[in-house]
Amino acid sequence: PPRVRFCPSPTGNPHVGLVRTALFNWAFARHHQGTLVFRIEDTDAARDSEESYGQLLDSMRWLGLDWDEGPETGGPHAPYRQSQRMDLYKDVAEKLLAAGYAYPCYCTTEELDARRDAARAAGKPSGYDGHCRDLGDEQKAAYEAEGRTSIVRFRMPDEAITFTDLVRGDITVQPENVPDYGIVRANGAPLYTLVNPVDDALMEITHVLRGEDLLSSTPRQIALYRALIELGIAKDTPAFGHLPYVMGEGNKKLSKRDPQASLNLYRERGFLPEGLINYLSLLGWSIAEDRDIFGRDELVAAFDIADVNANPARFDLKKAEHINAEHLRMLDVKTFTEACGPWLKAPFAPWAPEAFDAEQFAEIAPHAQTRVTVLSDITANVDFLFLDEPVHDEASWTKAMKEGSDALLVTARAELTAAEWNAEALKTAVLTAGEKHGLKLGKAQAPVRVAVTGRTVGLPLFESLEILGREKTIARIDAALA
Ligand code: GLU
Repeated sequence: PPRVRFCPSPTGNPHVGLVRTALFNWAFARHHQGTLVFRIEDTDAARDSEESYGQLLDSMRWLGLDWDEGPETGGPHAPYRQSQRMDLYKDVAEKLLAAGYAYPCYCTTEELDARRDAARAAGKPSGYDGHCRDLGDEQKAAYEAEGRTSIVRFRMPDEAITFTDLVRGDITVQPENVPDYGIVRANGAPLYTLVNPVDDALMEITHVLRGEDLLSSTPRQIALYRALIELGIAKDTPAFGHLPYVMGEGNKKLSKRDPQASLNLYRERGFLPEGLINYLSLLGWSIAEDRDIFGRDELVAAFDIADVNANPARFDLKKAEHINAEHLRMLDVKTFTEACGPWLKAPFAPWAPEAFDAEQFAEIAPHAQTRVTVLSDITANVDFLFLDEPVHDEASWTKAMKEGSDALLVTARAELTAAEWNAEALKTAVLTAGEKHGLKLGKAQAPVRVAVTGRTVGLPLFESLEILGREKTIARIDAALA
């Protein structure tokens, strides 16, 4: 069974591109009854943070993307944080050096820059020129005597590298396009270029599914893998599949810094994990031509990496919201009611905590469930129940309160006062009031809605009035007339 990995660096907030990668690896692992390894690539002390690490774990748990080996779960290849695996990398780097797969490079940044600029000016390839590839011991000693330090550089083979990308098909890269590259810094710190494939080898990863931005590092990693196999450190080169870019506004690559890309934003707005997973799985994949709403079990059953599309995927917020809304509708009312919980409290809810009435909320919840797009919509839809006075939004007020509204409200007040207090009867009352003023139901109910809820749009009005109660409804109409 396959072993895949999700191996983010803990920098910044989790973003949708990262989550999509995690999701596809998870779906692949679950579909094939394989293993998902969660590895933390925290070798860059200057950029990594514990906060970001905590957020990564929390996000995966919130989404329900469980891992089989990794932080807090452990596993046969522990530890799963690269910062705790430095000795392993040091050991591998030494073996690569000893066997000649890598060499110390003494070139200074200034020298590298100057030679690169000259190569560019001459129209030649501008990558590393192999200057230190074959230094003799004497030359090395001389450099060291000069006080130069060295990095470890991997020696790329002089032949083309070919591989079959699981998404993109056959790819061949010529040697002049993949120069020798650094794997250990002068201070001894191993780089991503080393630690990522070394861990994939040690953790026996069989399939590397990751973003297209990493495609250019694949030939280098394949070459390194071959060296690791020769050294008996790796068994086989994994298969690679590069997931398409996600494009945001204006057809530009969705960037980590784009607010639309932040996973936390979707959580705060009250996306369901199910809704978000459904949506993100469509970024480069589809379950069927005529279907875009499905649950995670269906995703797992249907997921095939061969169906991933190499073309860039478009991030479409409206579609994400639509899909989320569909998932909200599918919940049973009790689950929906519970899921609203956080948005019925501070800091989201504007009412005093003691004003909240769970029974009233349970009554209104089914009406809200068919109308909200994200859970955070709930607050504004029910605040008329729990605020002493409804919100007063000037624009809505002016829109609904036209000439004649006062007269209508006076009649509606009388009809409502006399009515039995249920939605059906309340509708008849407003209908009757409207008729007396030559107004259709829609026109007649607008001023009533604004007077009672403060808004021009909201949940079905007569059910809302029924749940709010006679006393408060009449008092609010009086306040509007005052
Ligand atoms: N830590 C790397 C990143 O977050 C992982 C890249 C990979 O999947 O190989 O970009």
